[in-house]
Amino acid sequence: MQKVIVTGGTGYIGSHTVVEFQNEGFEVVVVDNLSNSNIEVLDGIERITGKKPVFYKVDVANSAELEKVFAEHSDSIAVIHFAAYKAVGDSVKNPLKYYHNNVEGLINVLSKMIKYAIPNLVFSSSCTVYGQPEVLPVTEQSPVVKPESPYGNTKKINEEIIVDTLASTDFLKAISLRYFNPIGAHPSSEIGELPIGVPDNLLPYITQTAIGLRDELSVFGNDYNTPDGTAIRDYIYVCDLAKAHVVAVKRLLKSKEQYEIFNIGTGKGSSVLEIIQAFERSTGVKLNYKIVARRPGDVEKVWADTSKANKVLGWKAESSLDQTVKSAWEWERKVRER
Ligand code: NAD
Repeated sequence: MQKVIVTGGTGYIGSHTVVEFQNEGFEVVVVDNLSNSNIEVLDGIERITGKKPVFYKVDVANSAELEKVFAEHSDSIAVIHFAAYKAVGDSVKNPLKYYHNNVEGLINVLSKMIKYAIPNLVFSSSCTVYGQPEVLPVTEQSPVVKPESPYGNTKKINEEIIVDTLASTDFLKAISLRYFNPIGAHPSSEIGELPIGVPDNLLPYITQTAIGLRDELSVFGNDYNTPDGTAIRDYIYVCDLAKAHVVAVKRLLKSKEQYEIFNIGTGKGSSVLEIIQAFERSTGVKLNYKIVARRPGDVEKVWADTSKANKVLGWKAESSLDQTVKSAWEWERKVRER
């Protein structure tokens, strides 16, 4: 059985990805320090797949701790590196915390991969590296700009670190997946997005408002240059996104390319108001929302050209927006029933 190490594997995207790897017959070793997730996520994974992954409560930014995992699992064929802090606003207030965790974490992962000759890396990057693109949709050739936040900058720097490291070895290969906006939860409602504190992202804010945890949803700006004035993003179902990691590993195993980048989105932009309408339509629940001023640092519109992933990886987003939004609501209801 082929083995993969998944850092950040109890997190939102990581947990859905662990499920997909296990469903495809891979053995999975999860490394997470639980700084933004809960150990019970492993029970949810077990209920879905019938198998609990091997788990290490380890900080990837701590080289000595990470050493143990790689020494014990040097027969792994790939590392999927999710572990990172991701709160944009917090990164503006605490930049060094983000550079330490996200950049040192990757440096440690790459060092151990070299030391233990684990040849394949899939890295979680982000569309934030494109900033506000001049031409839409964005392709992988669109210019990478200095991101708006220290968080975004860690993604740009990490992509550069990967390129430089690959140039210095002849056996290491990598794929960076630039995610657009992951939303939704596993159809079983056993795992999903569970933000600690006030959510940074739209969907958890919507579901928490609908369930009564928050009074009102704030829509940041309705004076953008978009059809309804609200900001546009490319919302991708988390299970579709998770599957992209499995095909990325399969691609690494068979292709001769040392480094490739893929946009992972749906190829379609949706405005904030369209997401609210999709939520109300698919769940029958009315949302309490108000329009407020734009949020500093938010880009106006961005969506992906996914033709490279469609063609080269044979991967494509499958789920409809309504199904996806509904899955987030079913997850929220299940969490609050507990
Ligand atoms: P998440 O916070 O749910 O998952 C990250 C996981 O990593 C958490 O379980 C956390 O405990 C763990 N972690 C953080 N620092 C760690 C460390 N030093 N050592 C070990 N574990 C650590 O976030 P997510 O939404 O699942 O994001 C996963 C990855 O995808 C991140 O790299 C994130 O930057 C990237 N990404 C996320 C989005 C998004 O909108 N969710 C978009 C683009 C890129």
